[in-house]
Amino acid sequence: MIPFLDLASLVATDRDELIQTFTRVFDSGRFVMGPELEAFEQEFAAYCGTKYAAGVGNGLDALYLALVALGIGHGDEVIVPAHTFVATWLAITRCGATPIAVEPDAYSCLVNAQAVAKKLSSRTRAVVAVHLYGSVTGIDDIKALCHQHGVPLIEDAAQAHGAASGGVRAGNFGIAGCFSFYPSKNLGAFGDGGAIVSNDLALIDSVRKLRNYGSKVRYQHEVEGINSRLDDIQAAFLRVRLRRLDAENRRRQAIARLYLAHLANIVGLQLPAVGDDGSHVWHLFVVQTPFRDALQKYLLAHGCETLIHYPSPVYRFAPFRMFSPPGESVSDRLAAQVLSLPMGAHLRDADVETVCRYIAAFFKEIA
Ligand SMILES: *Cc1c(COP(=O)(O)O)cnc(C)c1O
Repeated sequence: MIPFLDLASLVATDRDELIQTFTRVFDSGRFVMGPELEAFEQEFAAYCGTKYAAGVGNGLDALYLALVALGIGHGDEVIVPAHTFVATWLAITRCGATPIAVEPDAYSCLVNAQAVAKKLSSRTRAVVAVHLYGSVTGIDDIKALCHQHGVPLIEDAAQAHGAASGGVRAGNFGIAGCFSFYPSKNLGAFGDGGAIVSNDLALIDSVRKLRNYGSKVRYQHEVEGINSRLDDIQAAFLRVRLRRLDAENRRRQAIARLYLAHLANIVGLQLPAVGDDGSHVWHLFVVQTPFRDALQKYLLAHGCETLIHYPSPVYRFAPFRMFSPPGESVSDRLAAQVLSLPMGAHLRDADVETVCRYIAAFFKEIA
C-alpha cells in the first residue's frame, strides 16, 4: 500500500528530540501562553520573513481573527475563491460578512487578479487569496489590485508554509498571512494549531488580544475576544518540526518533478500548473482528468491511495447554498476532475514511480 500520507513515519525522524521536548514542557509547568509559544512565534516570523507572528488555536481561527482585527462584520463583502477548503468561507460567514465567490482558473485551480477585479464593489472590505495546493502563483497581481483599490488582502496560507514568489514568502503579500498547523499540513503539529503572521503591529496586537478573551492585561477585557491560543506543547513540537520544513519542502519538490517527468504526455491527464520560479511547496499534487472516479478506483485497487481536494465548490454545501451561481460553474467542473496523488516526505522515489506506472496503465486500458 502506498499511503497518501504517513505522519507517524515523518515525525519518527525526530523521535528522541520530540520526546525530550515533551519532557521539557512537562517539567516546566508552563502550558498556555508560556515561553515555548513566544519562542515559536519569533522563529516562525523569522522563517516567513515577517516582523511578527501570533499563535492561535487553528487555521480557521487565524482567518477569522484576521478578519475581526480588520473590523469586518455584517454587511461587508469579502471576496473568496469558490474552489478552496470550507474553512476559508467559514471564517467570513462567522464574522457575519458576505462571501463573494470568485471562480478559479481551470488550469491552475487558483483565482487570478482579473477574476478578482470583476467582483470588487463599493461594499468589498477584504480579499482572501488562498495559496491553494502550496502555490502562490498570481499573488503579486492580486496584491497590486488590492493596493490599487485600497482593499486589504488576507492570505490563506494554510497549504503554503515556505512558498515564495520572487524570494518573498507566503505571509508577506497581504496585511495578514494565516497558517494552519493541522498535522497533515507542510508544517504540522501534534493536534490543532495555527498562526497569523504580519508586518503590521496594530493588527498583531489586535489578534493577540482577540485570541485571549479580548485581554492584554489579565482580567481586563478591552474587546470581545475568544479563546484561541496555541498551546505551549504544540509550539514546542512545532519548533522542532520547523527545522525540517525546508528539507521536507525540497523533498516534495523533488517528488513533484518525478511525477511531472513520468506522467508527461498522457492523453486525458492534465498535470498541475508549475509556478515560474520553482517555489511551489506542493502541499498537494493535483492532476485533472474526466476519468477521475475510475482512475481513483483503479489506483486504490492497486494499492495507491489518493484523495479529492475538493469534491465540491464551497457554495454547493448546504450552509452556503444562497451564494451559489445558477448553472454549472468552472469550479463544479474542477471538482469533478481533480485528483490528489500521494505527496509528502514519507514517499520513496520507487513509490512515486509505482503510482505513475499504474496511472499510465490505466490510460492505456481505457484508450
Ligand atoms: C487546513 C486549511 C484551513 C483550516 O485550517 P484548520 O487548522 O484545519 O482550521 C484553512 N484553509 C485551507 C486552504 C486549509 O487547507
